[in-house]
Amino acid sequence: MSQKNCKHLMVKKFCVLGLFDHKPNKDDCLSCDKYEGDSRGLGDDVTKVIKKIGLDKLVSKKKKPCGCAKRRKALNKTFARKD
Ligand code: SF4
Repeated sequence: MSQKNCKHLMVKKFCVLGLFDHKPNKDDCLSCDKYEGDSRGLGDDVTKVIKKIGLDKLVSKKKKPCGCAKRRKALNKTFARKD
């Protein structure tokens, strides 16, 4: 799945969230935890389920990092969708 599927990416590969100096490359977007769009792999699928059931709000009340971004990145890399 390429970076063009993220809803935060505008024309001329401009990231409206300002990540990576507004000019992320494909690898930046593949590892970005703010990505929103079609699933890039299993990590995105798991994240969608977690958000759907509200588990993310429960975890965000805790002070320490949950490791969700790391898990998402690893699962997307290992079980990536084919374009
Ligand atoms: S994946 Fe991340 S860096 Fe890339 S456009 Fe989306 S929000 Fe910006």
